[in-house]
Amino acid sequence: MKIFCIGRNYRDHAKELNNPVPSEPMVFGKFPTALLKDGKPFHYPDFSKEIHHELELVLKVKTHGKHIDPKFARKYYEEISVGIDFTARDIQAKLKAKGHPWEIAKGFNGSAPCGEFIPIDSLPNRDAINFELQNNEKVVQQGNSKDMIFNFDILIAHISKYFLISKGDLIYTGTPAGVAEVKIGDVLTASLEGQQLMRCKIL
Ligand code: ZN
Repeated sequence: MKIFCIGRNYRDHAKELNNPVPSEPMVFGKFPTALLKDGKPFHYPDFSKEIHHELELVLKVKTHGKHIDPKFARKYYEEISVGIDFTARDIQAKLKAKGHPWEIAKGFNGSAPCGEFIPIDSLPNRDAINFELQNNEKVVQQGNSKDMIFNFDILIAHISKYFLISKGDLIYTGTPAGVAEVKIGDVLTASLEGQQLMRCKIL
């Protein structure tokens, strides 16, 4: 199982971190050891003092493929959920300054909580999906997939140019604005069209 992530896929988020808007999807990866499922808690790592939540829509790959044309990309995913791309922002800032890869700031153990998957076809509008993150029952991030710079089909096409995508792979499709720090004791819950699919406590 592979975990693909997309950086800077929402203009308002690129702006909040003073990053340029990319001209093509920015892809990075996390390892399978990053995945946190079934409401498992997240253990705050001791190497960082600034872990941020990034709420993202997550696609599950349905079948393997490469060099997929955007026209046919829909056949490669049918389930969606919400997840968090936990980011050690302090470490990432140092790596970015040196021009180094940011794996250790993004791909560490438990850095990818993911909710339960539901069929995309069960949603009212597959091109405008609302999602939301609450921290201790307060709304901290809200997004809508219509605001993505690169839509699901373009992402599938782009990723599959470089990597074989396989059944069960996950694609974190980027975060809207509102990323912020988490603290030990926080409880994050994420929902899609009002349906809570993910819960994660910070220990
Ligand atoms: Zn992200």
